[in-house]
Amino acid sequence: MNIVLFGPPGAGKGTQADNLVKAYNLYKVSTGDLLRKEIDNNSPLGKKIKDIIDKGSFVSDDIINDLIKKILTNTQYQNKIIFDGYPRNLTQAKNLDILLNKNKQKIACVLSLNVEKEIIIKRIIGRQSCSRCGLIFNEYYNPSTSQNHSCNSSFLIKRNDDNEETVLNRYETYLKKTLPILDFYKGQNLLYDVNGSVSIQQIFKEIRSIIASLQA
Ligand code: AMP
Repeated sequence: MNIVLFGPPGAGKGTQADNLVKAYNLYKVSTGDLLRKEIDNNSPLGKKIKDIIDKGSFVSDDIINDLIKKILTNTQYQNKIIFDGYPRNLTQAKNLDILLNKNKQKIACVLSLNVEKEIIIKRIIGRQSCSRCGLIFNEYYNPSTSQNHSCNSSFLIKRNDDNEETVLNRYETYLKKTLPILDFYKGQNLLYDVNGSVSIQQIFKEIRSIIASLQA
């Protein structure tokens, strides 16, 4: 089962992807995480993309397609992928179809998390992730505690691009470039709307019932 998690930045895709990984034994493929890893490793690719990501613009489709190609040809991930933050535009969506076809795979569903702009901004400004285990938290809505997180709080970090100015730029880019993908997936009968404004647990409950309906 390959799933695309769709939604604006800050919609909670990463958090729900983590939930899906645990519940269904899947792999999260976040292009944002893969790109940030390149920056942290100071690789040639990382150096090339750092400024682009800090500004909130898109990395080129060629770079993204190369990353995805490597994942889809790895048999470990075969039909077990949660795509988080990818595809980000129509070219990427079409390319994903081609790559999946070539590797005899398909998308089971596209889960579109709908969240209002005001909530998104607060979610992004409060976002923290653990540099040790990768879990995502939010200072306001889902703080790291001894119950939900076993690492020391000193591992909690904020992303460079999670500031108010960049958030607005990322949101505008989402409206212009990413949102048109919805019609593409609607046309393939793969699109499921999810209310992303409620609690993390409620969102996941809705996602689970969608997945159960697909497996029935
Ligand atoms: P994310 O972690 O998904 O919010 O992505 C962080 C940043 O990485 C984005 O603002 C883009 O600069 C870049 N990025 C992530 N995924 C993609 C993608 N599929 N296409 C282009 N740029 C991307």
